[in-house]
Amino acid sequence: MTPTIYLAFVDDWELSGDGSGDPRELQFRPMRELLKIYNAHGVRGSFNAEVMQQLAFRRFQHQNPPLKALADEWDAAVQETFRQGHDIQLHTHPQWSDAEYRNDEWHLAGDWSILNYPLNRARQMIAGSKEYLENLLRPLDPNYRCVSFRSGSWCIAPSTYLLSLLAEMGIVFDMSIVGGVRYQTRRINLDYTNCEEAFVPFYPMMTDARRVSDKVEPIICVPTNHFYGSRRKTLRHHLSKIVGGMKSRITRSPAQAKTDRTIESYGHEWAQTNHASIASRVYEKGLVPYIKGKHLISDLAQLNYPLMREMLASIRRRARASEHPALPVILENHTKDIQDFSHIERFVAEVSKDPDVKCVTLTELAKELRNGKFPIKTAAPAGR
Ligand SMILES: [Zn+2]
Repeated sequence: MTPTIYLAFVDDWELSGDGSGDPRELQFRPMRELLKIYNAHGVRGSFNAEVMQQLAFRRFQHQNPPLKALADEWDAAVQETFRQGHDIQLHTHPQWSDAEYRNDEWHLAGDWSILNYPLNRARQMIAGSKEYLENLLRPLDPNYRCVSFRSGSWCIAPSTYLLSLLAEMGIVFDMSIVGGVRYQTRRINLDYTNCEEAFVPFYPMMTDARRVSDKVEPIICVPTNHFYGSRRKTLRHHLSKIVGGMKSRITRSPAQAKTDRTIESYGHEWAQTNHASIASRVYEKGLVPYIKGKHLISDLAQLNYPLMREMLASIRRRARASEHPALPVILENHTKDIQDFSHIERFVAEVSKDPDVKCVTLTELAKELRNGKFPIKTAAPAGR
C-alpha cells in the first residue's frame, strides 16, 4: 500500500527575532515570490503570520508615519495572499509584547518564550493576535477563523496551561513540536529530544505536548516534520552556504548589510549560551548537529533541492511504516531566510505532480482531522 501524504507548505512569516530587518525585504517581496511559485503549480500554501510584530507597529504608528505605511502593507499582503486561495494562520513571538521603537529601531525586551509568561499575559497575547487576524480576513470570508497555532521559537512544552488556553480559543491543532530539537540558548531553553510521537498526529498530555495522552483531548498536536539528512549532502550544502555568506558579506553595500539575513544572523539568533566567535557559532549551529546526528528541521529555507528530495524520501518511508493510508505532514519555511528560490520551485513543481502527494492548507488539515480522515494517536493506557 502506498499511503497518500497530505503535505502542508507552511511558512513562518515575520521579521528577525530581534525585530531587525526591513519588512519589504524580509516579508512582502519574498512572499510574492513564493506565491508566484505556488500559483504556477496549483499549490496552496499556508503562512503563519506573526501578529505580535504587527500589533507593535500599530501601537507606534501614530508617532511614526512610516510604521503605519508598513503596517498597512502588511495587512494588504496578508489579505491579497488569502484572496489568492492561500491560508493564513496564527504565530506569536512574545518578545514583541513590550516592544519600543527608538531611533528608527525596534527594541524588544520581552522574553522569547511564551512558556515563561503567566497565563493572563499569554491569553492576552494569543487572543489579541487571533482577533487581529480574524478581523482582517473575515471581510473576505465570513467563515474565516484561526484553527492552528505555531508558537514562536517552537515553545509549547512543558506548560501547565498553554494547550488548554489554545483549546479554549478554538484552536484545533498545534504544530510547535519538532522531534529531536534541543536549544539551550541565551533566549530559549527547549528539549524535544524525547518526544513520544514526532510524525503522526496525536492527542497530547495537556501539560506536556512531548507526551501522548491515553485519551481524546480538546486539542491535537501535528508535529512539524524533521528528518536525518545524509552526511555528504548536508555537509556539502552547509559549506556552500558558508561560502555564499562570506561572498555576500564582501559584496553587499552597508545599507544591504543592515537588512540582509545571512547564515550569520540566523546563527546569532540561535546562539548558544557560551560566548563564541561567529565562525564557531556557525559551526555549532550549522555543522555539529549534522555531523553527529544529521538532524534537520524540514525548513525549506534551510535546505537545498537534494536535501528536499531526501526529506520527501524519509517522509514516504515513515508514512509506509506507519501503515496509515492517509497522513498529514507539516513542512516549515521562513520567507525571511530564503536565499535562492530555485530549489523550492523545483521541489514544488515536482511534488505537485507526484500521485501519492496532495497539498493541503492548514484550514483543510483542521477540517480533515475533525472529519476523521487522518489517524490521531493516543497512548495505550498505563498498566495494561
Ligand atoms: Zn517565528
